[in-house]
Amino acid sequence: TEARLPPGKTLDTFDFTAVPMISKAHIMALCAGDSWLEKGANLIMIGGPGGGKSHLAAAIGMALIEAGWRVLFTRTSDLVQKLQVARRELALESAIAKLDKYHLLVLDDLAYVTKDQAETSVLFELISARYERRSTLITANQPFGDWSRVFPDPAMTLAAVDRLVHHATIFEMNVESYRRRAALQRQST
Ligand code: ADP
Repeated sequence: TEARLPPGKTLDTFDFTAVPMISKAHIMALCAGDSWLEKGANLIMIGGPGGGKSHLAAAIGMALIEAGWRVLFTRTSDLVQKLQVARRELALESAIAKLDKYHLLVLDDLAYVTKDQAETSVLFELISARYERRSTLITANQPFGDWSRVFPDPAMTLAAVDRLVHHATIFEMNVESYRRRAALQRQST
């Protein structure tokens, strides 16, 4: 489908016992959408690899689509590349405007965007354009303090984080990798 959600990553297959800091009731409330998508609020999930951020992000995206919202799921680096191409073709503004049709844009894995890639400022421009109008869900392996590895300079990092967190729910999912946990459990039985 157009939403490009990864298959099988749903709420039904998500084990909430692995993330005790997150209440299922809170997630179910977010899956209704109105409380945050109507005001363009954001959702940010931070934590080490394998902790279930992408799975939960996809599951929320799927539930929101079922509830009638328009959602696009993309790896952050893929979208940054597309926006860079648009910028070169002098079409960045319209490329960003096209994303307006999505109530929620899921940017998965901010970690894989680095400022070595030319012009990561396209990401900043996207964030600024959506601010207080359209919602963005970001998953990231690094805490905010390390986001300076993503944006071109400290001022832009600060401004981007400021806009993102102004109206945001932040989940810190610092749990052991689910894959690793499952492998260890298999060994001990
Ligand atoms: P992250 O995005 O935090 O790096 P993923 O969501 O990609 O982690 O999770 C890695 C793998 O483990 C995926 O196959 C995912 O479906 C599975 N997984 C992680 N957490 C859970 C969970 N709480 N319940 C079920 N599967 C999970």
